[in-house]
Amino acid sequence: MSEIHEVVIIGSGPAGYTAALYAARAQLKPLLFGSSIFVGGSLTTTTEVENFPGFPEGVDGPVLMDNMRAQAEKFGAEMIDDDIVSVDLTGDIKLLTDAEGAVHRARTVIIATGSGYRKLGLPGENELSGRGVSWCATCDGFFFRGRDIVVVGGGDTAIEEATFLTRFAKSVTVVHRRSTLRASKVMQDRAFTDDKIPFAFDSEIAEIQETNGMLSGVVLRDAFTGATRDLDITRLFIAIGHDPRTELFTGQLDLDAEGHIEVAAPSTRTSLPGVFAAGDVVDHTYRQAITAAGTGAAAALDAERYLSARG
Ligand code: FAD
Repeated sequence: MSEIHEVVIIGSGPAGYTAALYAARAQLKPLLFGSSIFVGGSLTTTTEVENFPGFPEGVDGPVLMDNMRAQAEKFGAEMIDDDIVSVDLTGDIKLLTDAEGAVHRARTVIIATGSGYRKLGLPGENELSGRGVSWCATCDGFFFRGRDIVVVGGGDTAIEEATFLTRFAKSVTVVHRRSTLRASKVMQDRAFTDDKIPFAFDSEIAEIQETNGMLSGVVLRDAFTGATRDLDITRLFIAIGHDPRTELFTGQLDLDAEGHIEVAAPSTRTSLPGVFAAGDVVDHTYRQAITAAGTGAAAALDAERYLSARG
C-alpha cells in the first residue's frame, strides 16, 4: 500500500502553490498535482501582472508562478506535473488516481483546480492572450487606456466590464450575437446611456487579426446577413463566461448551479470532511490571483487544524 499523505493538493495556480507553501511550512509535506499540460495555472497565459502586491514594477505571469512554486518547494512541498483523473473523497482516507493509474492516499485534500474562461474558438485567440486579447477587465483594464476596445458578450459580466472599461478606454463597442442583452435591467440602463458604449447586436467576431504579434483588429459578421466589416481595434475583451474545473467532483461534493464548489465561507471547508477548496474553482465573484492565493493559504490552515483536531 502507498504512503498516506497528510495533504494532497490538486492544482498549480496561485491557490494551489500558496496552499503548498503554507502546508509545507507547517511540516505537512504536501504533495501537489499540477497538471500535465498546464503547469502554473491561468497566469502563465498572460504577460505583465501589475496588481499582485510586492511587485511595484509589475511581474511577468509565468515568472510569478515559477517563483511561487520555487518558494513552496524550498520548504519541502513535492510537485508532480500530472493530472488527477479520478477521486474518491468520501472515506476517511481519500483516494486520488493520477493519469498513469497510480493511486495516492491522503488524509486531507485541497482542491485548487481553477476555472477556464470560455473562448471564441478563433485562430490567434490563444496566441494573442496578453497581447491585446483579454478575459479579465479588472486585470487588464489599465492597459486599455485611451484605446478603442471591443467587449464580446451580453450577460452581466460583459456589461459590467464594458462599463468599467469606459474609465480607461476611448470607446467600448459591445458585440453580442443576439438582439437583446441578458444582463440585468439596471446594468443595461447604465450601459445604454453611456456615450462611450456603442452596441453591435446580432453580430459575432468572425476573425481576429494580428500584426507583429499584437492584436490589430477584428472582423465582425452580421448574424443574419453574413455581411462582414473590419473594426480597427487593438484590445479585445472576451466576456462569455467561465467554467469551473469540477467534473471530477460532481456527485461527491456540493456544487452551486454554475458548478463552483460550495464551501462554508469564510472557511474553505467543502461538504465532505477533510476536503477543502480554494481559488477560482470556488470563487465566482473576485477571481483574482491575490484572492486565489489568499484562499489557498486559508485552505492549508483549515487542513492543518482539521488534522490536529483528529490527533
Ligand atoms: P488557476 O490559476 O486556474 O490554476 C489551476 C490549475 O489547476 C491549472 O494549472 C489547471 O491545469 C490545474 N488543474 C485543474 N484540474 C487539474 C487536475 N485534475 N489535476 C491536476 N491539475 C489540475 N489575476 C490577477 O490578479 N491579475 C492579473 O493581471 C490577471 N491576469 C490574467 C490574465 C489572463 C489571461 C487570465 C486567464 C487570468 C488572469 N488573472 C489575473 C486571473 C488569475 O489568473 C486567476 O484568478 C487565478 O490564476 C486563479 O488561481 P487558481 O489557483 O484558483 O486557478
